[in-house]
Amino acid sequence: MSRVLIIGAGGVGGVVTHKCAQVPEVFSEIVLASRTVEKCEKIRQQIARPIEIAQVDADCVPELVALIRKVSPDIVVNVALPYQDLTIMDACLETGVAYLDTANYEPREEAKFCYKWQWDYHDRFRERGLMALLGCGFDPGVTNAFCAHALKHHFDVIHTIDIMDCNAGEHGHPFATNFNPEINIREITQKGRYYENGEWKETEPLAIHKTFDFPEIGPREMYLLYHEELESLAKNIPGVKRMRFWMTFSQEYLTHLRVLQNVGMTRIDPVSFQGCEIVPLQFLKALLPEPSSLGEHYRGKTNIGCMLEGAKDGTPRKYYIYNVCDHAECYREVKAQAISYTTGVPAMIGAMLMVTGVWKGKGVFNVEEMDPDPFMEKLGTYGLPWTEAFLE
Ligand code: NDP
Repeated sequence: MSRVLIIGAGGVGGVVTHKCAQVPEVFSEIVLASRTVEKCEKIRQQIARPIEIAQVDADCVPELVALIRKVSPDIVVNVALPYQDLTIMDACLETGVAYLDTANYEPREEAKFCYKWQWDYHDRFRERGLMALLGCGFDPGVTNAFCAHALKHHFDVIHTIDIMDCNAGEHGHPFATNFNPEINIREITQKGRYYENGEWKETEPLAIHKTFDFPEIGPREMYLLYHEELESLAKNIPGVKRMRFWMTFSQEYLTHLRVLQNVGMTRIDPVSFQGCEIVPLQFLKALLPEPSSLGEHYRGKTNIGCMLEGAKDGTPRKYYIYNVCDHAECYREVKAQAISYTTGVPAMIGAMLMVTGVWKGKGVFNVEEMDPDPFMEKLGTYGLPWTEAFLE
């Protein structure tokens, strides 16, 4: 029996709330808080169980502290935006509550994400006797657990990791992003980066690509991106020599993105327009469909997984582990598309393992530092079954 405070009533927040509501024996009380309380109300009306809702500006530590004191939760699940990670962690420290998120901190004024800002909280969480779990969505999150599972059960040493994220769904819009447009476009328009022999190698944005035949989907072109789990896996998977992250994009998507970039709509610096300052990317976000609105007409599947190479008992091994998720089935279950679903389900499972004491620790942790077994088992139970195969 526990009380969970979910912050952020977007696409992912809706899924976390639905999934927590499905497990009343663990999450006996649920509070959903966000900047726009009407969005919490909309989610509340989709759920048969009573849940509480609240308005909060998660950029403001005193507001968060007042809310946390009032709700007195066992855990705060942060599914607002990466900009709010540090304020919510500050509020958790002040009130003595455990913390979980799905994306690492990013400052608003610079398109840069890295774990250092949050890892720097480790000693403070440890001294407070509290646990913070970072990046417990799908990628990062499940992908980290896939690597930990492979290392625990199938490899003595992992040499290479390729994380491959394919969304082969069609939402019926000429251009839309599957999670927060501002965060998504900042991520994709950055330079690519991968890890090789202890060094980070940089590439031009989306410059490296290749075709991969995704199970249940077929061949798709995937592009090398920098993604946050590479940073924590480089620290936590001993002996790894090369790690890359790949994501598929359609030509239609890339053409839209190129035009938007060329005309300056993806800029994150303020420009003066008719006497006021606007940030073009924030304006673009206001024009694009909300990720949470895409679900109803979404068709097709996602396939996200890890291809690993290494050795077991002196024999080389190649291993592939993945999940396939169907957009329409997700919508039928929780009124969300598969990207929100694949993020929200692991966040609920991570919170469940923390409040029940299965995953415990004092300090700030990434998912691959936890025992993967209970998490991997629950993925199947709560809607994200996985498949593994040895290829050589
Ligand atoms: P959305 O934009 O749909 O939702 C974000 C929500 O956070 C909105 O309801 C928004 O409120 C709220 N919010 C924003 N700022 C504040 C604030 N200052 N105070 C309170 N609430 C605020 O995004 P998603 O649901 O798609 O994504 C949520 C998070 O999940 C993001 O951090 C994203 O990066 C992460 N993610 C992680 C993935 C993974 O696999 N690890 C994959 C996909 C997403 P309002 O509506 O008022 O703007």
